[in-house]
Amino acid sequence: MVKVTKFGGSSLADANQFRKVAAIIRADHTRRYVVASAPGKRGANDIKVTDLLLECFRRTRTGESIDEPFGLIQERFRTIMEDLGLQDDLEPEFRKIRTAILNYAGSDYIASRGEYLNARILAKYLGYAFIDAEYVIYFREDGRLDSERTNERLSEVLSRTPRAVTPGFYGSMPNGTIKTFSRGGSDVTGSIVARAASASLYENWTDVSGMLMADPRIVDDPLPISRITYRELRELAYMGASVLHEEAIFPVRMAGIPINIRNTNRPDDEGTMIVPGTDFAPSSTVITGVAGKKGFSAVYIEKAMMNAELGVGRRVLGIMERHGISFEHLPSGIDTMTVVVNTEDIAKDRGLILEEIHRIIRPDHLTVHDNLALIAVVGRGMIRTPGTAARIFVALANANVNIRMIDQGSSELNIIIAVDSTNYTRAIQAIYNEFAVPSKG
Ligand code: ASP
Repeated sequence: MVKVTKFGGSSLADANQFRKVAAIIRADHTRRYVVASAPGKRGANDIKVTDLLLECFRRTRTGESIDEPFGLIQERFRTIMEDLGLQDDLEPEFRKIRTAILNYAGSDYIASRGEYLNARILAKYLGYAFIDAEYVIYFREDGRLDSERTNERLSEVLSRTPRAVTPGFYGSMPNGTIKTFSRGGSDVTGSIVARAASASLYENWTDVSGMLMADPRIVDDPLPISRITYRELRELAYMGASVLHEEAIFPVRMAGIPINIRNTNRPDDEGTMIVPGTDFAPSSTVITGVAGKKGFSAVYIEKAMMNAELGVGRRVLGIMERHGISFEHLPSGIDTMTVVVNTEDIAKDRGLILEEIHRIIRPDHLTVHDNLALIAVVGRGMIRTPGTAARIFVALANANVNIRMIDQGSSELNIIIAVDSTNYTRAIQAIYNEFAVPSKG
């Protein structure tokens, strides 16, 4: 059995965190492959090494000196090494990186060096091999991950390396230059390594004990989510409830490998288990979670006999498409259709879009409602539980929240509700309070 463990920046922020990480790895001999982030914040006012590196990049473009941010980076790594009692000499590495930065290396190369150095230190500390992501993770010309080439190469390298540490966040382009994922991308690397190792589990160690049923800034002390399917996670993550990089789901999902979100600072907590949809363990609560986002607008179109007129939907969406707008939801009635879009997205072409709808569709009414918030109530438990929608609506009515729109996803996995932004917090609290009790049986 093999487990792949990924440790985030706060888990590897200083020597004390390194010790916790080593204890976690040594506690289970199946934790054979480790993916490391760059050192993160040690406290609220600290700066992540990745951000310091990007500051160096910025300064080379404005002609400012990089001495200060680069000095801070060196000091971070030197202190970690010293505190851990490690002898490895990083000075040649620092010289090489500094020269590259001063010679206008690309921002991806510069940003990736935090992971590179941290993974080297961790490998040394654990006595594990170091596998540089540069030589095992490949991007295609269009900048997207070349997942099959990567998987082939990485599987082969892992098969002859019993224990190894790999830096997260980056790989290389076909021409050999370094390319990173978007921020937080070490999660993706962990998932790629888990797939290539045919791991039984991908452990993602961070500084929270998994996901919560609701945003703790809105709800006091929300219940943890112990088990969630990939699909539920995607619905909640889309609404902003995220503990994981969005793209990290795909490699492990493809291979049916569960992800366990764990807390480096509370290693006894079981965290959240993210499982394939086929692993249909019942949830202890009817809903798995509730999350939401503000900043939506509903373009409401009404036209008598719309139901009998072919192509209205296509034409409306065609207008949106021509202006580069993707829609979020599309609730419709017999003679009405509503396109819910991101307010910011339509801001620029708003006048043009409305003018085109008038001209092409000739509606009886065309209005735009702004300041909407969307709330997703997500849960595999809803599929077989009658009355869930009723409970949501009664809870919202009792909280005096007016529902502007309802949309139940065809998967029955989620109910999306639109409310005025001013009611957003109250609505989430009402829904959470209604469901935050474990169901019987
Ligand atoms: N160090 C990178 C970042 O800060 C990647 C990661 O930590 O996952 O975004």
